[in-house]
Amino acid sequence: MSFSEIGLTQELADTVAKLGYDVPTPIQSQAIPLALQGKDILACAQTGTGKTAAFLLPTIETLKHSRARHRMPSAVILIPTRELATQVYDNFVSYSAGTGLKAISIVGGEIISIQERILKRGVDILIATPGRLIDLFERGKLILTNIKVVVIDEADRMLDMGFMPDVDKILAYMPKLRQTLMFSATLSPEVKRISQSYQLQPCEIKISRSAKTAETIEQSIVRLNEMEKRIALRKVLKSNPSIDPTVVFCNRKKDVDILTKSLQRHKFSAQALHGDMDQRSRNETLENFRKGNYRILVTTDVAARGIDVSGITLVVNFDVPIHEEDYVHRIGRTGRAGKNGNAIMFVTKTEDKKLKRIESLIKHTIKEIKIDLNVVMEEDEPTEKVLGFGRIIPPFMLVDPLKFLA
Ligand code: AMP
Repeated sequence: MSFSEIGLTQELADTVAKLGYDVPTPIQSQAIPLALQGKDILACAQTGTGKTAAFLLPTIETLKHSRARHRMPSAVILIPTRELATQVYDNFVSYSAGTGLKAISIVGGEIISIQERILKRGVDILIATPGRLIDLFERGKLILTNIKVVVIDEADRMLDMGFMPDVDKILAYMPKLRQTLMFSATLSPEVKRISQSYQLQPCEIKISRSAKTAETIEQSIVRLNEMEKRIALRKVLKSNPSIDPTVVFCNRKKDVDILTKSLQRHKFSAQALHGDMDQRSRNETLENFRKGNYRILVTTDVAARGIDVSGITLVVNFDVPIHEEDYVHRIGRTGRAGKNGNAIMFVTKTEDKKLKRIESLIKHTIKEIKIDLNVVMEEDEPTEKVLGFGRIIPPFMLVDPLKFLA
């Protein structure tokens, strides 16, 4: 099926074709026709499935003849994190080319007076984190009585981050007659409760991503102790000689900084991204990573949530994530849009229970690989010697880590 067959106008189908989207993803082919009919949707879909286009494209179709009005947007897209909001905004700009629609990303950490000025001139779509949106509303800079479409993206994450009271407040200010599209990685009873409170006979869509994950991402674990993690990480990074972007996840912000400094000392091209950095440095760090100005991004779950950088071939879980769903989000940074990726996770004895929870969520055990940690790392040693191999390692060696690292 093509985008025009699922109801998009030819202009919009042409725009997405220019971006390389020829065929709608499953979430898009299910959600777009329903959204175009004005229905409310409750969709269980994770990041990486194409869900952003699944809500942006029909919203653009619905609003494309509307005129931006002074402080009165027609749609609000609520997003849990600043980075994700910026990314959704960037997608909006690409998808809406030629429609004349205007959007603004309203996130904390950026200058509020600039946001106020843009709102005053008039925008059609607000892409916002809940806190800053409330702030602007309460200052009287925003009127929500003209809202026709609301999207709540990553509803489960909004709940986890304690944003639901803010979301409740925002929705209460909007007209009852509107379309509400809700996306969540899980449909927990709490997510369903929100759906019941704010949606009218929503159409439920479930897209499972686990099969896709299994197909395109080679997953493995390395058992080691805390002291061995940094050596193991350097070996993994050295053994992947390509310059493709790599993401390393830690559970704590403090460890992100420590690990980044350690990698930099060992001459790896690494930068840190976490929630304690100001918004400008976060944006710059991400932009530089996108541009390939450095190769390794060390980060936490919250900061990296939903980040879409193309060509990430390796994700290293330096710690086992505390919430099992975060494992799926973390490794979903690679293997996107059908491309191959590798995900390696370090597991210490105390993290065994967390590993079991992850394995029961993804419904399979993750294969174990071994790294020879006794060999001393030397910066200028050829990779194959560092790893104790007697042969040249092809650049794609991490495509099958078991074969090469065992
Ligand atoms: P998302 O789940 O929205 O984060 O999207 C995951 C990735 O898939 C993004 O890089 C999108 O640009 C890409 N994408 C979305 N829809 C399509 C499509 N129909 N065909 C190819 N790539 C797509």
